[in-house]
Amino acid sequence: MALYADQQGGIIRSSDQGTSENNVTNQGDIESGSVQPVTIPRPEHTVSRASISSSALKVLYRLKDAGFQSFLVGGGVRDLLLGREPKDFDVGTNATPDEVRSLFRNCRLIGRRFRLAHVRYGREVIEVATFRARHEGEAIDDRDSAHSDEGRILRDNVYGSLEDDVWRRDFTVNALYYDIKDFSVVDYVGGLDDLKAGVMRVIGDPEKRFREDPVRMLRAVRFAAKLGFRIDPDSEAMMHALGHLLEDIPPARLFEEVLKLFQGGCAVATFELLRHYDLFRYLFPMTDEALSHEEQGFPITLVLRALENTDARLAEGKTITPAFLFAALLWEPMRLQMQEFLNQEMAPLEAAQVAGNQIAAEQVQVTSLPKRFSFPMREIWMLQSRFERRRGKAPHRLLEHPRFRAAYDFMLLRSEVGEAPKETADWWTDFQVLNAGEREQKIESSPVKKKRRRRPRKRKPTPQSDE
Ligand code: ATP
Ligand code: MG
Repeated sequence: MALYADQQGGIIRSSDQGTSENNVTNQGDIESGSVQPVTIPRPEHTVSRASISSSALKVLYRLKDAGFQSFLVGGGVRDLLLGREPKDFDVGTNATPDEVRSLFRNCRLIGRRFRLAHVRYGREVIEVATFRARHEGEAIDDRDSAHSDEGRILRDNVYGSLEDDVWRRDFTVNALYYDIKDFSVVDYVGGLDDLKAGVMRVIGDPEKRFREDPVRMLRAVRFAAKLGFRIDPDSEAMMHALGHLLEDIPPARLFEEVLKLFQGGCAVATFELLRHYDLFRYLFPMTDEALSHEEQGFPITLVLRALENTDARLAEGKTITPAFLFAALLWEPMRLQMQEFLNQEMAPLEAAQVAGNQIAAEQVQVTSLPKRFSFPMREIWMLQSRFERRRGKAPHRLLEHPRFRAAYDFMLLRSEVGEAPKETADWWTDFQVLNAGEREQKIESSPVKKKRRRRPRKRKPTPQSDE
């Protein structure tokens, strides 16, 4: 569903301010630097200090009181204008990172590619970015700015004014500035119009901007899914053409982006859009490959169920973990690999272990996956076969396993899509809630698992060479 600003009653603009001349996202206008902003005074918009976190307000005011320009920018302004609760608050200023640090005790400078100040209040972090300037063709110190051969920005630490900074932001709706000095909203790029129309539009030339930072393609999808916006056709066309540039993005950055994509509450919509723009395969190549020859919609249903589950848990305020998310997203390649090993007569436990290691090792070349998540992910996988063992001590041991809960939830998913027997899922659902005596009784009456008869080892075909 598209969330239009009008429906939210979010945006009011003064009628004497034309909109069309301000919709300047073409390169010519940007180069000339001649764009006049539209300024919406406080009574005519709905960004209210009451909806801005007290920490963000503290940062905004302290910067202003120290004589710096101080704006709320990015998602905070965008979401408040849409009547949504912002995920976090970002601040833009003409104070340099060092100047910001000297103003706040609770401040840390982060990032090499893009240097930022993080001001922390308890669990909340306010991100303070110094205005960036354009720097192509200028004699600049390449310690502050650098591009790859593909046009990708490797470092972006040349500081400038608000007028410079606007054009370095990714989308028009992300380039609205709320000025703490007079509470007005400043719009250089037609962001308010795009917010009203529900459009994600790249600022400037989409090809150039996506080449500068291919992750912007993923951001376009993320915001489109979250806000119910459409992506403007020029940007869209480039996403189809330039997805491959994501192959050059460091795995650690892609991992962070995957979490934002799938743990932001709109994982299902995001997944569908990623598949639509053929970008999913740059995040999960093995999964994409497995899904491309899916039979009877079976694996894709498991992924979708897992993502639905994630969205629902977030909506209910429950916890989620990347370990479970990755376990589900990588399950199909894992299952296929395991099957291949079983066909080669590898023992089931060993097959699961070797396949699990192999899939994890391959995935981390694309998106990193810290060990604190990849260990439990493999445990979730390894425990799956143990749900079939329901005699003797085995069920008790499984129940006591620290990863039982996640593994059980995962088995339920497999059962929902018809991959694990429903009877197994029901058995475990009951078993958990029984008292000790009842558990023993249930175990006694459980079916004895038939031993798998080993087929005679097949000889591996010797590979035929064409030459
Ligand atoms: P949310 O916080 O809800 O995910 P956001 O728009 O605030 O959305 P952030 O990642 O917090 O996104 O970034 C803050 C702002 O910084 C963005 O709105 C945008 O103006 C700018 N920005 C972030 N990443 C990029 C990028 N890769 N290229 C250009 N501008 C960016
Ligand atoms: Mg933000």
